[in-house]
Amino acid sequence: RMSSSAPAAFQAPSANQVRQNRQILEELQEQKKRLGSAGPKAGRESGGESSASGKQSQQQQQQQFKCALQMQQPAEQLHLIDCHAHLADACFLEDIDTVVQKAIKNGVQQAIVVSESIENFDRIFELQSRHPSFIQPCLGVHPVQQAGGPGLLVGGESRNRCVQLDDLEKAMPAIEAAADRLIGVGEVGLDFTPRWCPDEAARETQKAVLRRQAEFALRHDLTLNVHSRSAGHHCIELLHSLGVRRAHLHAFNGRPHYAVTGAQLGYYFSIPPEVVRDSGKQRLVAALPLDRLLLETDSPVLGPTVDQRNEPSNARLVLEFIAKDKAISTEAAAAALLDNTMKAYPRLARAQGVPNPQLLSSTPMMQNPQPLSPN
Ligand SMILES: [Zn+2]
Repeated sequence: RMSSSAPAAFQAPSANQVRQNRQILEELQEQKKRLGSAGPKAGRESGGESSASGKQSQQQQQQQFKCALQMQQPAEQLHLIDCHAHLADACFLEDIDTVVQKAIKNGVQQAIVVSESIENFDRIFELQSRHPSFIQPCLGVHPVQQAGGPGLLVGGESRNRCVQLDDLEKAMPAIEAAADRLIGVGEVGLDFTPRWCPDEAARETQKAVLRRQAEFALRHDLTLNVHSRSAGHHCIELLHSLGVRRAHLHAFNGRPHYAVTGAQLGYYFSIPPEVVRDSGKQRLVAALPLDRLLLETDSPVLGPTVDQRNEPSNARLVLEFIAKDKAISTEAAAAALLDNTMKAYPRLARAQGVPNPQLLSSTPMMQNPQPLSPN
């Protein structure tokens, strides 16, 4: 059933959260005064060296903001975010409420929901008005379109075709009109699978479609939620050449070496539940530092088993895999991944009362990314 009221731009933080965060900010300002330092400069534009006391104060701030996030949920409950899910897919039409409840029960409190084409846009906002805190919307045009219109992704690949400029022209006005309601632009990207991208012309079309959406994201300071099948390094190279700084590459299947380059450029990589059965994804987790990783499900595909519908609740499996790989506790991994998500999606962070997500990281962002290696 469609809700008649228009969904709000963002889920506003509760009065309680606002109060807590204001309190924290006041305490921080007092600490800063006591330490007599100028305090850390936020963001990666800050060029200055921080003093010893500045560093200390920055660490305290990081702790405080972490606490701020933890206070928003009941104790011992995890706050995991599925950073890439297709919940507008027809296979979730019947039981989306149950799917959301099950996710929350498993500690998956939110899902970044992406589109493939204009056909998904209305459904995404309908879902958001149904579950305003859970559903975090991205709109975008996928490099691969379904020839017969939207439907089940599972097993439907034979109906796929390469994106055309016309798909973008149709969708772009709606994406632009929704700019203030989005936390990112996606699913966008490149897919050089020969079956639907047979020649140079098709590649160039995909690049043009990605370029236009990347420019839109840059204009609105939105994060790109990126698909890069059989085009991992092409994708990273193009994003880098366009000056994109906020990008999240999902289900990356390029060589880990390229992912490491992307990580050095400041991009994030999300890991789907198929990591439990896919050695390529396992190598990716091993190759990347914890501070570049995010959780995703890519629901309804890329689940822990091949033939079952994937759901956001399965992001929990990814958390456990990452914790084990990095030899840390589940709780520590969850906290780190939440910080990463806030940094990767500043709009989501701001909506949740984290005004400066960059302070959440103990690892500074790279100031001057290295040029990409030629191959
Ligand atoms: Zn996807």
